[in-house]
Parts: sequence; structure tokens; C-alpha cells
Amino acid sequence: MSNEEAHDLFVIGGGINGCGIARDAAGRGYRVALAEMNDFASGTSSAATKLIHGGLRYLEHYEFRLVREALMEREVLWSMAPHIIWPLRFVLPLQKGGLRPAWLVRLGLFLYDHLGGRKLLPPTSNVDLKRDPAGKPLKPMFTRAFEYSDGWVDDARLVVLNARDAASRGALILNRTQVVSARREGSLWRIETRDVDGQRAVHWSRMLVNAAGPWVDNVIAGVLGRNNVHNVRLVQGSHIVVKRKFTDPRAYFFQNPDGRIIFAIPYEQDFTLIGTTDRDYTGDPRKVEISGDEIAYLCDAASEYFAEPVKPEDIVWTYSGVRPLFDDGASKAQEATRDYVLKVEAEEGQAPILNVFGGKLTTYRRLAESALEKIGEAIGVRGRPWTAGSHLPGGDFAAGGQESLVASLRARHPFLDPRHAERLIRCYGSDATALLSGATDVAGLGRHFGGTLYEVEVRWLIEREWALTAADILWRRTKQGLYLTSEDVAKLEDYLEGAVDRLKAG
Ligand SMILES: Cc1cc2nc3c(=O)[nH]c(=O)nc-3n(C[C@H](O)[C@H](O)[C@H](O)COP(=O)(O)OP(=O)(O)OC[C@H]3O[C@@H](n4cnc5c(N)ncnc54)[C@H](O)[C@@H]3O)c2cc1C
Repeated sequence: MSNEEAHDLFVIGGGINGCGIARDAAGRGYRVALAEMNDFASGTSSAATKLIHGGLRYLEHYEFRLVREALMEREVLWSMAPHIIWPLRFVLPLQKGGLRPAWLVRLGLFLYDHLGGRKLLPPTSNVDLKRDPAGKPLKPMFTRAFEYSDGWVDDARLVVLNARDAASRGALILNRTQVVSARREGSLWRIETRDVDGQRAVHWSRMLVNAAGPWVDNVIAGVLGRNNVHNVRLVQGSHIVVKRKFTDPRAYFFQNPDGRIIFAIPYEQDFTLIGTTDRDYTGDPRKVEISGDEIAYLCDAASEYFAEPVKPEDIVWTYSGVRPLFDDGASKAQEATRDYVLKVEAEEGQAPILNVFGGKLTTYRRLAESALEKIGEAIGVRGRPWTAGSHLPGGDFAAGGQESLVASLRARHPFLDPRHAERLIRCYGSDATALLSGATDVAGLGRHFGGTLYEVEVRWLIEREWALTAADILWRRTKQGLYLTSEDVAKLEDYLEGAVDRLKAG
């Protein structure tokens, strides 16, 4: 295999970091391949709190570099993908005799407003909870709050849109394909993969990128065959979803007596998302799930604030993920750095590898740019940074233009239920029209699977977004799982069995 025939980069991992690096690199003209062993975003990247945020809490740990970079990314990412990313205001109720005095919180918010290039997002303001609707669902003891800006992201869609864009720029994107071994042969990597049908294949690449998130050390140990590997600290975080606790479009930032914080966020039209927790994790990242203690912790913490308590029986869904934090030796899980670390190993004359440790959804684009700098140093520079100012698929409309897009989709397809139209724009942006493929009435949407999920969307997800299973469709490409009954899911599974093969066969 000659250098000219090999890929320039082979990326292990289809989470946000792998897909972000693959997209950036493909756009600069590198020959890129990426393998994801399961589904895109099936690891940590669909289990986040889903905030595009500077991380107000990280100021307490003096993570100024990270906070500044993340704050600056908020508006960059919003204009890159205004369908899946939008601003969110947070109401932070103040407590008399709380852990942090009001002046300290205000100082943090002052820094937050001024550290990171805020142009469109409104600044911090004071809220009188006795008059403002934000006070309504809270206990009457909360009378004052601050309100500040951050952003919301559909995390799993952010990943798949990066994968789609990378593919449209020439990257070879392999879903459900595990990297089972990687060995250096001279100046190239020989990479062996195994796909979902057990088929093995060999790929050659000038450089390897290990973006395996919580599996990053497993890849170094198992795939590359090294001993005594310990770079990341795995920290579990869980969320609960309950029926909507409040109608206000703002989210809440609650401070807990243990010094931690949790969020309560409007979620998927009819729900409230509450999270998260922080606890060290040692098991298989794929098997992580919420514990009874975490459920009790989240219910209790939210019930300190809401007038109507949150009870375990209110929970309609939970999810858990594992943060792959770079191990900086911090004593508590919540104090471990949230910043990312990129390390290149490149012995003279040998094919290089870049290992990615840590990283946030919010900083994925900057992480990819930093990775590309290191890749350029290792195998030669190609292209220039280009992703700031670019659009992800469906995101080619003005930030803040969601409502007019919904209106024009409804004007073109008047039979669409308004909630359906809104969801389609929030998932697919300007691609929603193509997805509906000229349907002129409800029958034109094909089979109805429950919620607002129709055959036309399922086909799009199989054909354009690598969806194979009901979980891919219901819990990652969409969150329609919140609306479907178990009979609905069985119908979808039946449909998928035949449809995936038929559609793939063309
Ligand atoms: C509870 C929680 C809340 C969070 N909240 C936020 C937030 O609000 N905002 C924010 O910005 N960030 C947040 N984060 C952080 C963010 O979600 C993660 O940092 C990010 O998703 C990590 O992405 P990744 O690509 O590194 O890892 P992953 O998403 O886990 O991707 C790694 C992928 O590698 C694949 N893989 C592993 N081994 C192999 C192999 N041998 N071959 C092929 N594929 C392989 C895995 O299947 C996996 O899909 C949160 C994280 C958690 C856990």
C-alpha cells in the first residue's frame, strides 16, 4: 500500500469529537475515514445536559481558558446550526443564607457576560420572582433571581449532522464498524475493522485519531496493545425527564446544599429535563444506567425549589452517560477538569497517532481546529480553518429564523400539524422540505408510527442518516421515543426489518 492510496486520517469514534474532526479534516482536503462501532452519538454524545454553555460553575475552579473559549463558541455554533442550537435564558433563584452570596453569583455572571465575545445573546438581568412568571412554579420563599444567557443543542443530531457533512465532503463514514486492531507498518497504520455482519476489512492510513471518548484508554490498551494505560477519569452523569413542570420557555439553574448545581430545562415540547449528577464510574461505559440514589438526589434537589415536588413516579424517561475527563488528579469527580487535552505520539519515521482526552460538546469545533493543527504538524498542512461561519446540513438560514421557517413549511404543507412542523424544523431545518418529498396530504407522509413520526421521516433517516434500529430513530435522530407506546415501537421494528434491506438495495 502506498502513501498515495492510503487515507490521510483514520478516526476511531463517531461521537461529537470524532465526527467534528472528520468534518473539519475532510473540508480541508484530507482523505478521511471514520469508524463508529455502534451508532453515531450512542456513547457520551447523546447523554449530555445538551447545553451550549460557558460553564458558569467552572469559574469556581478557575477554568478561565475553557470558559472563555466555550462562551465564544455559543454564537458561532448558533449560526452554524440554528435549527438544532438556540439561545436559552436561565433563571438562577437566590437563597438567603445560601452557599454562594448574591454578590458572588453576580460577579460570576459579570465575568460570564464579558469574558467571551457576546454579540447577540442578551446580558444578565435581575428577576423579581414575585411578579415574573418564572416565579410561578417555585416555592414562595424564592423572591429574587438572576437571569443569564446560554444555549441549547440537540446533541445527537449535532453529531450525525457533522457525520453527514463530513461524508458530503468526501469522508468515508462507517457506522456500526468497530476498529479491532491498529498496528504500525512502516510509515502507515494498518487498521482492521469488523462490521455489524461480522465482515472484516483492512484500511491503511498515514495517521490515526483516537476519539473513542470513554473508550479512549480501551483503544490504547486493546486496539493498540499497550499496558498500564490510565489517562481518563470516567464520571457518570444521569438525567430524569418528567412531564412539563412549567410552561415558561426559560430554564432554571438550581444550587444544591452540597455545592453542586442542577438544571431544570424545557424539553421536547411537553417535558422537563432535570440533571445532572457526578460520580466516579468504573464499569463498561455502554452499560451505564441511573441508580436509585441518583433518582432520589435529582428529585430531592428539584423539589427544594419547585412548589410541587418532583417524585420518582413522575419520571417518564431517564438516561445516563459517562464523561471521559482527562485525569488531572482532582479529588472530587465534580472538580476534575472539563478541558480537553490532545496528545500526538509520533516517533521518527513512524505513523503518528493523536489521542483525544476530554472535551465538551460546546468546544467540539475548537477541539477539532486544535486537532487539525496537530495533524498538520504531523503529516503536512492542508487547507485552512473553515468551520466558523460554515453551516451544518439544514442550518443554512439566519440564527433566530426558526419561526419563519416553520411558517413557510406550513404554508407549503398546510395539512401539517403545527407541532409536527415545529419539530421537523428543529430537527432538519431547511432540509425539512426535502424530507417531506412533496407530500400534499397526510396520506403522502406514509405510515404513521405514533407521535409525529411518519414513514417519510423514517425513510430519510435510513437513507441519509445511517439509522438502522428503532433506538437510532426514537432516541438519537429524534426523541419520538417519548411519545410512542410499546406497540408503536413494535410496529416500527417490524417495518425496519424489511425497509432497511429494501432501501439499501436501492
Ligand atoms: C451527564 C453529562 C452531561 C454533559 N453535559 C454537557 C453539556 O451540557 N454541554 C456540553 O458542552 N458538554 C456536555 N457533556 C460533555 C459531552 O457530552 C462529552 O464531552 C462529549 O459528548 C464527548 O464526546 P466524544 O466524541 O469524546 O465521546 P463519545 O460521544 O462517547 O464518542 C466516542 C465514540 O467512540 C466509539 N468507539 C469506541 N471504541 C471504538 C472502536 N474500537 N471502534 C469504533 N468506535 C469506537 C463509541 O461507540 C462512541 O460512540 C456532558 C457529558 C455528560 C456525561
